[in-house]
Amino acid sequence: MTDEEVYDRLTGFHPSEMDLWPDASREQWQDYRWQLKNRVSSLSALESRMELSQEERAGVLLAGQKLAMSITPHFFQLIDRNDPDCPIRRQVIPRIEEAWSAPEEMADPCGEDRHMPVPGLVHRYPDRVLFLVTDRCASYCRYCTRSRVVSGVGDQQLEIQWESAFQYLEKNTAVRDVLLSGGDPLLLSDDKLDRILTRLRSIPHIQFVRIGSRIPIFLPQRITPELCAMLQKHHPLFLSIHSNHPKELTTEVKAALERLANAGIPLGNQSVLLRGINDNATVQRALVHKLLMCRVRPYYLYQCDLINGSAHLRTPVATGLEIIEQLRGHTTGYGIPQYVIDGPGGGGKIPINPEYILSHQPGRIILRNYENEVFEYPDPQPIPQQVMEELYSQILTSNH
Ligand SMILES: *Cc1c(COP(=O)(O)O)cnc(C)c1O
Ligand code: SF4
Repeated sequence: MTDEEVYDRLTGFHPSEMDLWPDASREQWQDYRWQLKNRVSSLSALESRMELSQEERAGVLLAGQKLAMSITPHFFQLIDRNDPDCPIRRQVIPRIEEAWSAPEEMADPCGEDRHMPVPGLVHRYPDRVLFLVTDRCASYCRYCTRSRVVSGVGDQQLEIQWESAFQYLEKNTAVRDVLLSGGDPLLLSDDKLDRILTRLRSIPHIQFVRIGSRIPIFLPQRITPELCAMLQKHHPLFLSIHSNHPKELTTEVKAALERLANAGIPLGNQSVLLRGINDNATVQRALVHKLLMCRVRPYYLYQCDLINGSAHLRTPVATGLEIIEQLRGHTTGYGIPQYVIDGPGGGGKIPINPEYILSHQPGRIILRNYENEVFEYPDPQPIPQQVMEELYSQILTSNH
């Protein structure tokens, strides 16, 4: 297939099927509680629905003890069971490679535990705080940067101290932005989330609140009209979803995102660059175009963190740069995410860009554009004194 044929195949919106759950009614399928209850989380449940490769079977047995396996029926149906390299499959089904940690890998690659003044609150930047409000997700991503605490099966537990966390935020008047994450905050009940948001909104210096969630992708059924009505009481509220591949954006997901957007919630997307999953410009172009059609603005493209067991999913940085190079100038600027590396050990997000500056000397900058044409942009110069004097002298000699 040519790149254009691949692109065309990836950009359509399709409803998810439900043939692997023949006993489920349409009503059950659309009920997020049913979806959660029927998640695929054991080897037997998995093998009764698809044939695993040897690497996957070993992965479920070995890696499932560090980060649980759990896949919602909605997401499971997107797997191409005949394709061992299916990009959906590779994100949620463990593989044996995950059980090995490369020497450069870490349990806490972003150094979050070092920046926790209160358990559950990561205060890395002066004006904004990451608040981990749950350790559970609808499904688990095999490359999760927080796999040390999510899913509840690893050695480390997330212990949230709610009252201390709120008091810390109340005292720290420099914090103007709170990012709720986890785990997945939208897995909490409407009531619990409402209480958290209400408490945050009672703090005058907190201007901006956002939620990071993969629920719209894993479990679009959870985005109920009731949830949206509750969320919109707490504006300005932004939401960052997490989508890596255009296949994830189904008709149901698009409708869920539209419900959120119609509730006035600006939507962004965070992607992780993953080997064999989305590490080429055609897939990324289809992804960002579909996101724009779903009213989602691509926000960050993350270089995969050095999380334990991720070597088989990480790409060279040059691949990410090449992808950005092939987007910038070639498509809608709104569709281009900022490529970032989270500085290993706790450096925060560092933007990575292709080089468009060819040289920068005092007084002038030499640039290239997306077509490799070269341009010079001079810095502004003061108007020479002599010119000023001549201008003034024109007034004296004129007849006004
Ligand atoms: C990503 C992150 C934020 C938010 O960063 P933005 O660039 O504002 O999106 C805040 N705190 C921590 C610890 C983070 O990892
Ligand atoms: S949804 Fe987010 S927090 Fe949950 S497993 Fe995936 S990356 Fe980790």
